[in-house]
Parts: sequence; C-alpha cells; structure tokens
Amino acid sequence: MVKRIAILGSTGSVGKNALRVVDGLNSSAGKDKTQYEIVVLSANSSVELLAEQTRRYRPRFIAITNADFFGQLQDLISGLDVEILAGPDSLIEIAQMEEVDTVFSAVVGVAGLDAAFAACRKGKRIALANKEPLVIAGELLMREARDNGATILPVDSEHSAIFQAMQAGSVEEVSKIILTSSGGPFRELSAAEIQNATLQEALSHPVWDMGPKISVDSATMVNKALEVIEARWLFDMPAEKIEVLVHPESIVHSLVEFVDGSVMALLGEPDMCLPIQYALTYPERVAGIVRRLRLEEIGKLTFERPNLEIFRALALGFEVARIGGTGPAVFNAANEAAVEEFLAGRIKFASIVELIERCLNKHNVKKIASLEELLEADAWAREQVQKSISAQVHKSTRT
Ligand code: MG
Repeated sequence: MVKRIAILGSTGSVGKNALRVVDGLNSSAGKDKTQYEIVVLSANSSVELLAEQTRRYRPRFIAITNADFFGQLQDLISGLDVEILAGPDSLIEIAQMEEVDTVFSAVVGVAGLDAAFAACRKGKRIALANKEPLVIAGELLMREARDNGATILPVDSEHSAIFQAMQAGSVEEVSKIILTSSGGPFRELSAAEIQNATLQEALSHPVWDMGPKISVDSATMVNKALEVIEARWLFDMPAEKIEVLVHPESIVHSLVEFVDGSVMALLGEPDMCLPIQYALTYPERVAGIVRRLRLEEIGKLTFERPNLEIFRALALGFEVARIGGTGPAVFNAANEAAVEEFLAGRIKFASIVELIERCLNKHNVKKIASLEELLEADAWAREQVQKSISAQVHKSTRT
C-alpha cells in the first residue's frame, strides 16, 4: 500500500521533521508495509531548501506561495521532471489534488486556512500542525470535516496525546481534558522580571526548539491559550472541561480524565516526530525514529498549577474559548501583530499581552460568524494593534 502525501510548509521545522519521519517509515523493515510517497512539497520563500528537497524526494508537484521566487526556483531545479505551482492559492489546489491522500499542513499562520477547508471538502486525511485553522475557524472547520468525511489528525503534541487518550472511552465519558505546558522560559520569574524580558530571553525555550514566533508565544503562554481554543473545537469540549497543568519536564504530553475518575496520560520523549508519525500512520502504530522513553533516567515528574495572574494570556485564552464566535480570531490576530512588533524590537515583552487584551476589550464579539466575518475580525484586530502602538508612540514623544 502507498500513502500519497502533500507537505505544505516542508522547509519549516515541522515540515523538515515530517520528511525525517517519512524517511524512517520507508526504511524500516517488514514485508507488506505501507510506503509513504511524497507527492507534493511546498514552501513560502525558502527556494534553496525546497530545491534540495525536490532533488531528494522527487515529488510530482512543488509549490512556492510567494510567487516572486518562481523564477529562482525554476532555475534551481531545471532538468527535473516536476510541475511548479506558484502563489498563495497553490495550497488550495494541492489540498484538492486527486493524487494526494494525506495533506500534512505545517504552514505558519493564516496562510493554511483555505487549504484546510479545501482538504476537508475533498474528504482527505489532514495532519494538522498549522494552529490557525482550528483557532480562527474551529467550529466551521470541524463541521466541514464531519459533513465531508474528512479526518483531522492533530500534529501538536498535546492534541495528539489527547486524541490518543480519548480512545479509552466515549466522548460522553470524558469529564475533562488536561493540556500540559512546559511553562515556557519564564515559568520561575516574577511579573516584574517578565515585564522587560529581552528578545533573546524570550527565544530560549527550555525544552522545545522552535521558530521565533512560537517561542515568543510559549514565553507569554499565548501558545497554550491557542491550544485551549484548538482543543475546544477539535474535541468538541466546552472550555469549562479544559484545564492547563504546568509540567516542566514535558514528558506527559496531556491527559484525559473520565467520569469514573480514571486518568489516561500519554507519555513520551519531547520530540515532535512522535505526533508527526502518529498522524501519518494512524490508526496503526509502527516502529519509527523516536528515542525510547526511559523513566528511570528522568526520575521524577512534577506538576503545578499555572499562574493566571502572571500569565494573563492564558486567562484570556480560556475566556475566548468560552465565548467563541469572532473572539478567538481577534485574540490570535492581535497576538500575531503584537509579536511581529516585539520581534522587530518596537515594543517590549509585556506589551504583547496588553495589546491583545485592549483589542479584545474593544471588540464586539459576533457569536455566529461566517468565514468572511472571521477574517474581517482578524483584519480589524491587526489594525487595532497598529493604532494602539502609534497612539502609544505619539503619547510618549509628547511627554
Ligand atoms: Mg504544543
């Protein structure tokens, strides 16, 4: 059997790991085993790496979403038998291709939204590492998947853990789901110390090696807030049944508590390759490249309640997960805009969450919203953040 995979965002950290997992799966021993064929690779602008991956994996199609790089890519792969797609809509085209069974979406940001919907409409298997489709439009996306027989498999380690633990009972038997969090780089700092944290400090995550945006999200705990929202839709759980538990060792990837008091946890090495592989091989489990867990080497696992006063973003995340509608889209967009400003050195660390909160306070939540209205709310929030920042700069130059 051959599973035909499209990797959207193959040059990012999750995309590169997905290719490593596919290598491992294809080289592991065993007769009659499933082969994983890379049919499509896509990147936004990393042409050199995309060209290198194209020479190695020989996909039938490659896509470059930033069309400015089309010419350069064409030169780099001249002589290879591969069709090049260009522009942001190429992701939608890929998601609908007859030649593809599994769409592995590792793109960053809102860019993956339309592709996720397109793959749902075609009833594909979607391995979803891209948070935004569930955060911004989780309710609509899950409905689209249900109506078209598509399967959404989470690639985020926490959601993969919950997905697996949920299989111990029926949805009605779940009393709560518990997302674990490493606590990020600022877990042990006071509110005053966090206020003026530098970019360098925010980027040094203790456990996971990730891109700059998600590292900052981890430091503010916005990342966990986004995961609460994702879980709310992915598992159809009300926000009241979702909890966050800080677990610095990152060995327990999340837990599900059932009505009888039994708690199912998923443990494993903190390695993205594990949830990536599960999303590709589900419902089977096969040998792969991930190191075995040795609890005797770890010794002890610790847990603590998150501090919702210091990590205000998490409290806001629960609030928007409860409210739904356009709330999560505004939360997410305000954060993206604010993080961009922080990464560019234009605002201080504490301003990120202040800007999100100010934006949410100004927003009139629309409870039932179409995709267009969700994207309007997204654009509105980005604009609000810019306005708040220029107002702030104006005020400080005056005084
Ligand atoms: Mg995660």
